Amino acid sequence: MKIGIIGAMDIEVEELISSMDDIKKENISRIDFYEGRLQDKNVVVAKCGVGKVHAAVCTQTMILKYAPDAIINTGVAGSLNSELNIADIVISDGVVQHDFDVSPFGKPVGLISGIDLIKIPCSEELINKLVRAAEILEDTNIAVGTVASGDQFICSKEKKDYIVNNFNALCTEMEGASIGHVCYINDVNFCIVRAMSDKADGTANMDFDSFVKIAVEKSILLINNFLKQI
Ligand code: SAH
Repeated sequence: MKIGIIGAMDIEVEELISSMDDIKKENISRIDFYEGRLQDKNVVVAKCGVGKVHAAVCTQTMILKYAPDAIINTGVAGSLNSELNIADIVISDGVVQHDFDVSPFGKPVGLISGIDLIKIPCSEELINKLVRAAEILEDTNIAVGTVASGDQFICSKEKKDYIVNNFNALCTEMEGASIGHVCYINDVNFCIVRAMSDKADGTANMDFDSFVKIAVEKSILLINNFLKQI
């Protein structure tokens, strides 16, 4: 069993990488892939960079070069739900691309051409294992639901409402649905784990800077506990 772990930013994966043993590092398309052992499990960890294209390149490369049995995307996101506060956790049951729009052709907003899905489902088994691993987190709301991704940092009520109204998503970020899309077309199980760094509203940029660190700590605890338990 080999688990692929992808984060968008250094801060989201650097602690995982520094805890790994037997590391082999390889750079492909400007992305460093770290293969080795973490919590005594086989892993490959990478920082993909921000946004859907970086995430897709990283995921496809990881699948072709390292053949992980499952891929988990870990990191931070903007909360779209009033019950999810800073540092609460969302585990995806599926992912949507809120900026995919061929509605002028009569298709529903978010329908992904070619695969004809709006929401790409996650592996039930992974969801259940991640929910169990999340029990280690104290004073934290854990929610399972839709994660919405797009190439935009969501920082206004208007854009936030658009995503909630069209996709009923719990949080928004910039990579998860791209990772899910690539996993789906390669038949690789995946799930997204995100800790809330902000509320995707008018102050999201300032909240992000203040809270990204404490949010990341939660997601890292969860991922380490997941690896311990599998
Ligand atoms: N500081 C970086 C940009 C970070 S973008 C730069 O200067 O380039 C925010 C990152 O955190 C993305 O990887 C995204 O997945 C996640 N994220 C957190 N809050 C978000 C929000 N409100 N909207 C979109 N992405 C968000």
